[in-house]
Amino acid sequence: MINDTFKHMSSKIGRRSFLKLAAVGAGMSATAALAASESIRPATEEEIKDPFPGSKKVKTICSICSAGCGIIAEVHNGVWVRQDVAQDHPISEGSHCCKGIDQIDLVKSKQRLKFPLKKVNGEWKRISWETAVKEISEKMLALRKENGPDVAMFLGSAKFNLQQAFYFRKFAAMWGTNNIDHVARI
Ligand code: SF4
Repeated sequence: MINDTFKHMSSKIGRRSFLKLAAVGAGMSATAALAASESIRPATEEEIKDPFPGSKKVKTICSICSAGCGIIAEVHNGVWVRQDVAQDHPISEGSHCCKGIDQIDLVKSKQRLKFPLKKVNGEWKRISWETAVKEISEKMLALRKENGPDVAMFLGSAKFNLQQAFYFRKFAAMWGTNNIDHVARI
């Protein structure tokens, strides 16, 4: 009976639309089940007014580029939960570019890389910082020995501040090449 009904519906509305409707129906059933199990509930008036009671507002800067625009990070129980512009910042004067306004998601992203990974037999494996630095530097030195210092090209990051850019330039000079540029140029 149900099969007949589905066949009838799908022939009338088309397969793609029917599948979409079926997915929406499944989602609604799951939501209803969650509500019935009291896993979710409406927020209280107090929670709507202040979802993070006792949170601290910390003045900091966006680190995506060297402009260092001011942002206010709201921190609750040690976790960065919300972001706002710093109205009184002397450089950005209460504004952001579209990258900076999403700075919090760079920090909270599930895709954020927090430690070195090495691909071994097709699988990513966690390695220590010491191992990563040792392996990369050994490979770089072997390449330089075989091909000379111009084998490498150093591309600076837009996230470098003045001091980091200085050290990066010095590093390329000590390596022995003038192949250095800023990432924005590519
Ligand atoms: S990325 Fe945008 S918001 Fe962040 S510092 Fe640079 S200009 Fe400012």
